[in-house]
Amino acid sequence: MLDLIEKLSQKLDSAENSKSLVSALRDFFIKNFKISRLDAFVLDKETNRLVDFSKDWVSPDCDLVQSKELQDILPKITRNKYITDYKNFIFFSLPKNGKSLGIIKIEGGRSLDKIIEFMHTASYIISIKIQNVMLAESMKKNLDFYELMKNIAKIIETQYELNYVIPLIGEMIDKFMSNCLIYIFIRHKSKMELMWPANCKDKTILEEAEKLTEKYNYNIFQNGKTGIFPLVNENRLLGCIAAKTMSGEFSQQEINHIEQLAKQASSTINRAIVYGEILKHATLDALTGFYNRRHLEERIKQETSKAKRQKTSLCVIMTDIDFFKRVNDTYGHAAGDLVLQTVSKTIRSQLREYDIAGRYGGEEFALLLPFTRMEEAVMVAERLRKAVENKKVDLSKINPEKTLDPINITISSGIYEFKPQDSAEDLLKKADKALYEAKESGRNKIVVNKDE
Ligand code: GH3
Ligand code: MG
Ligand code: MG
Repeated sequence: MLDLIEKLSQKLDSAENSKSLVSALRDFFIKNFKISRLDAFVLDKETNRLVDFSKDWVSPDCDLVQSKELQDILPKITRNKYITDYKNFIFFSLPKNGKSLGIIKIEGGRSLDKIIEFMHTASYIISIKIQNVMLAESMKKNLDFYELMKNIAKIIETQYELNYVIPLIGEMIDKFMSNCLIYIFIRHKSKMELMWPANCKDKTILEEAEKLTEKYNYNIFQNGKTGIFPLVNENRLLGCIAAKTMSGEFSQQEINHIEQLAKQASSTINRAIVYGEILKHATLDALTGFYNRRHLEERIKQETSKAKRQKTSLCVIMTDIDFFKRVNDTYGHAAGDLVLQTVSKTIRSQLREYDIAGRYGGEEFALLLPFTRMEEAVMVAERLRKAVENKKVDLSKINPEKTLDPINITISSGIYEFKPQDSAEDLLKKADKALYEAKESGRNKIVVNKDE
């Protein structure tokens, strides 16, 4: 028997999470006692109900056990070591400081007496292992939570466009609350407008969002399955976060988490709104130092009319980073920002002083080359392509704790030379057409639109 206890202990030591712990237990009992099934349940202190421990119990998908039979056993088992008079099952209490941590349910098995004798000691070992895993898992959840809070605050260091900030916050929270649907609304002219994701089929969520006022605390409805959390900054209602859980109902811990995340998001969103107002009057893009889109469009008008008037040549290069979404998805958006900065710096270093560089969209740049013919522009675009291809982006600046190899980035470009009959809009449109072809035909290349 001692031998078996030792074996069990070793087997459980290798389990890192609740799922692998239960599966190790299951294997062990099937092998050594020929049972047919084993389940482990722990008591949820908040609801005083059993939770299936083989599910990731700290995350929202820890289903409360619905079986009434099992919940009925609970009070009995807390007073006993085990119960055998239930069909083909035996239930063992997992002891914890004279109380019960939870239940092991065993089905089948030939030698009932042997199992009972074994569990006399083993239940203590199993209980301790489960407690260790519970502790480790909730510590990890807490770490993830603080990491998320920090990341939401950090967005504003490099981003200020609401259209980019909101989806980023949405995706971050969505990833953390893995079993919830998350929606972000922003108040616009005293109406709540869904900003992320693209749509919300649940009409009740929209209605409840509309009901929010500044003083509102969070509001939980639909039998504890849905919550509306206001985004408030200095008594101004900016919008709200709605969350809908896909299993059971929200636990108090989940509610606390979303409430705090909503507060953090409020301050980031508020700053994005304030920055946005200020930046309406600015000409430069904060991240890259290139002209922002509004100013770029202004300059295009000036340059095209100048080229027309003075009969000088003018070329435009539309440049877009290849597979940029992958950088964000793999290394996080801070790495994406660093790539944007590195690429824009590399591009700038290859241009002449009077060339005009603008950030047209997320990772798309428009470069205006006055007094430049097509042949020359092709050379410039090719030089840019090579310079970016040869530049390694060192991601260790972003995350000094992780060792990441530097990454390579490529760009694709479309080139067009202005013709007197073109409008300012034509210029970008025609370069963009060539850019599209460059993407379609393999990326990391340049394509010319001769417009013939
Ligand atoms: P393709 O080679 O076809 O251009 O693919 P792609 O992945 O580069 O293009 P896609 O348009 O699918 O993705 C662009 C991504 O750029 C999506 C968006 O989240 C991201 N993005 C836009 N602006 C910013 C920004 O300021 N910072 C960061 N980190 N990401 C941004
Ligand atoms: Mg791209
Ligand atoms: Mg793009």
